[in-house]
Amino acid sequence: ADIALYEAKKSGKNRVEYYDDHVESTSFKRLELEKNMHDAALDSCKEFEVYYQPVVDISKPGDPCSGAEALIRWNSQKMGFVSPSEFIPLAEYLGLINPIGDFILEEACKRCKYWNDMGHPEYRINVNLSVVQLLQNDMVDRIRRVLKETKLKPTNLTLEVTESLAINDMARMKRVLAQIKQLGVWVALDDFGTGYSSLNHIRELPIDVIKIDRCFVVDIGKDDYSEVFVKMVSELADTIGVRMCVEGVEKDEQLDKLRQMKVQYIQGFYFNRPMRAIDFEEKYL
Ligand code: C2E
Ligand code: MG
Ligand code: MG
Ligand code: MG
Repeated sequence: ADIALYEAKKSGKNRVEYYDDHVESTSFKRLELEKNMHDAALDSCKEFEVYYQPVVDISKPGDPCSGAEALIRWNSQKMGFVSPSEFIPLAEYLGLINPIGDFILEEACKRCKYWNDMGHPEYRINVNLSVVQLLQNDMVDRIRRVLKETKLKPTNLTLEVTESLAINDMARMKRVLAQIKQLGVWVALDDFGTGYSSLNHIRELPIDVIKIDRCFVVDIGKDDYSEVFVKMVSELADTIGVRMCVEGVEKDEQLDKLRQMKVQYIQGFYFNRPMRAIDFEEKYL
């Protein structure tokens, strides 16, 4: 049943599926993935590399970069490139997300501190946190420790939490997020509009940023629902003083529409793909 649940999680947003032949036929590959990931995590995460996708502020002249989202990449010696949407759910399931997540957080904070020192004190770093990480008893201490060790200012860090998982234990989630906010760190609600999302989360959870999922952008210009949805969330965000970021912008027409809606932050291939730290630094430092 656990395996079926893992497969269901991987295939979408926490959908319930039943164990079937498909799971059987992929179990060998999963075992291989499992072993290799275990080895990679224990080997100081050497096979992992943090990539950075710039976040652009389109409310300012010239659409300046305002920072970046850290996105993990795994180049396995045995299996080649493995996508995070493939291995992150497995890492969560195996408990390996904690060591891997610590590595990402440390690496990303270190990098951002360097950017801040190199003439961009305004750049923020966004780091994705799995709900499994978030619910560790000492997560807030860990964040505090990483900030201290890397000397990154808390006000330059945003932690992204995926909404579909955030609702399992609402009271606890609220408490942890509030503690994180108290450090001065921002909290972003990732993939908004998908999974188990509810407009109530915007109101109940202590969040600073809403990130609208890419799937709404794909349909902008094609379907009224997506456009109205983005506009509505944008107005709601404005009203309650929460910032908004739209992910997955690839085309001119999409960007134009989002400008008209007065969206502030954009992430997407239109501006940039996730890139290695050295490439980000060549372009934006
Ligand atoms: P996410 O946090 O919502 O990240 C955004 C994803 O959208 C990234 O995929 C990014 O490369 C992709 N993206 C950005 N702009 C565009 C665009 O214009 N077009 C298209 N087609 N895609 C775009 P990526 O890097 O493959 O990551 C997938 C998911 O894996 C992430 O979704 C996040 O949930 C998870 N993930 C990635 N890195 C980490 C990490 O360091 N820690 C944790 N816990 N999860 C991570
Ligand atoms: Mg994210
Ligand atoms: Mg996500
Ligand atoms: Mg997202």
